[in-house]
Amino acid sequence: MPIRDILAAALSRPAGRVVDGPVRDIVNEILADHGYASPAELAALKADADGLRGRLGSVDARLAELESAAVALQESVDALRAELANRPAEPATGPRPSLIPQVPEPPTEPLGERQTWAERSVKKGMCKVLNCNEEASKDGFCAKHASDWSAGRLPGFISPEGLVSVAGEPRLVDPALSGLAYAVEGNVVEIDGRQVPTVGY
Ligand SMILES: [Zn+2]
Repeated sequence: MPIRDILAAALSRPAGRVVDGPVRDIVNEILADHGYASPAELAALKADADGLRGRLGSVDARLAELESAAVALQESVDALRAELANRPAEPATGPRPSLIPQVPEPPTEPLGERQTWAERSVKKGMCKVLNCNEEASKDGFCAKHASDWSAGRLPGFISPEGLVSVAGEPRLVDPALSGLAYAVEGNVVEIDGRQVPTVGY
């Protein structure tokens, strides 16, 4: 047992207290001479160490709290990043498609020629479109031309809605005339040798 512990133990006993003051001074002097710290200094040192240990403990706890907060934060960031990566791309913002129908210009062949062809074709059960030699399948048109006409893409025939193209603009005629061949002279729509009124679309 080190000498300072023996002395400290002796001084802490009841008997030691009788000679406490002077003996303590002497002991401290001897300890100082030999480079030892006194019991009081040791006790103070221990108290300091305990205090430091306590403070380090609370610093450790605080660091652990910060670490778990950082981990949680990192997890949120990762989750956000994954969500952003999985987000569908923004739709390309192009010009909006026009709501005004695109009606094709009537063909350049004379209306009389087209009409004659159409009348003969109807009698034969053939397609009404000039120079088309397919059998009629629907509305007097072959399958392809019937499909074009239904979609309003067949030039020179009034569309199912009564649409015609006059000087590049869509105009409406009586829908009862749909499916007939038409031509435009100036700004006038002609059908079978007569002029028909139009209204703006
Ligand atoms: Zn056809």
